[in-house]
Amino acid sequence: LQDILPALLGRTGNFELVVFGILMVLLLQFAREGVWPWIARLVARSVPPPPPDLPPLPARDRTPPPGPMLAVRGARKQFGGLVAVNELSFDLKSGEILGLIGPNGAGKSTTFALISGALPLTAGEVLLRGESIGSRPPFQIARRGLSRTFQHVRLIPQMSVLDNVALGAYLRGASGVARAAVRLDRAEEARTKSEAARAIARVGLAAHLHDAAGSLPLGKQRIVEIARALAADPALLLLGMTILLVEHDMDFVMGITDRLVVMNFGEKLAEGLPAEIQRDPAVREAYLGGAV
Ligand code: ADP
Ligand code: MG
Repeated sequence: LQDILPALLGRTGNFELVVFGILMVLLLQFAREGVWPWIARLVARSVPPPPPDLPPLPARDRTPPPGPMLAVRGARKQFGGLVAVNELSFDLKSGEILGLIGPNGAGKSTTFALISGALPLTAGEVLLRGESIGSRPPFQIARRGLSRTFQHVRLIPQMSVLDNVALGAYLRGASGVARAAVRLDRAEEARTKSEAARAIARVGLAAHLHDAAGSLPLGKQRIVEIARALAADPALLLLGMTILLVEHDMDFVMGITDRLVVMNFGEKLAEGLPAEIQRDPAVREAYLGGAV
């Protein structure tokens, strides 16, 4: 700027144009949506208070099921001629952290979609606490205790963090559309907000309660999704994440999981303790093409 400014001023002599240009640059840098949101923010400095701390909504029964928490049995998903998931079976015990890993295109995202009900199974079964959920719509599966986050964050960007997270807690409410329409559900609504605020505090985002979800950096948006999932009081949490597999991150995956299922070409390639998986020649072959 130091070099350009005198040159510009000297050559054109048009000071206004330069000032205009600088304003334009500042606008693009700091107020892309125009100056109004900026002014509105300055005026509306009176941040609304956090919702009152009300008694929690009824919590889910925490007794572990007699069998596995989640059972995938011979799951198959076909997209036309392409078999994305083939005869996949595994269990997840209550309290267990299970990692589902595999190279690109192995079928992990499809498996997630099958478990959460986002995609229908071509064949096979998914059981949550022993109950078949394979053909149920996602909201019914969510009500039964399965919460998820997405690999590509899915929040409502214009809505506040509080309102986004409250969406998770609404699943626990007893009020239906009819009661909500005539506003008989106000007490429950207040408790839902209170529950959402607690979930937000739990993940360390209390300072962002009233910020638009879309205004947060992506990392924090991911954490908002976790708060939304937790607000639903899940029995099972599916975390959708991608980790670029450099060795350092592999150690991270191995460190936080109790057990791993490895997929390749839609099928289960291996299953076992992290240390076993790390040694498994078939897994190393799939990931590293036999390079190591
Ligand atoms: P991963 O998450 O392990 O990378 P995916 O489950 O996304 O793998 O994909 C598994 C395979 O299924 C890939 O070959 C992919 O191209 C294919 N696939 C995934 N979703 C669709 C879809 N909606 N339609 C057609 N093919 C799909
Ligand atoms: Mg994927």
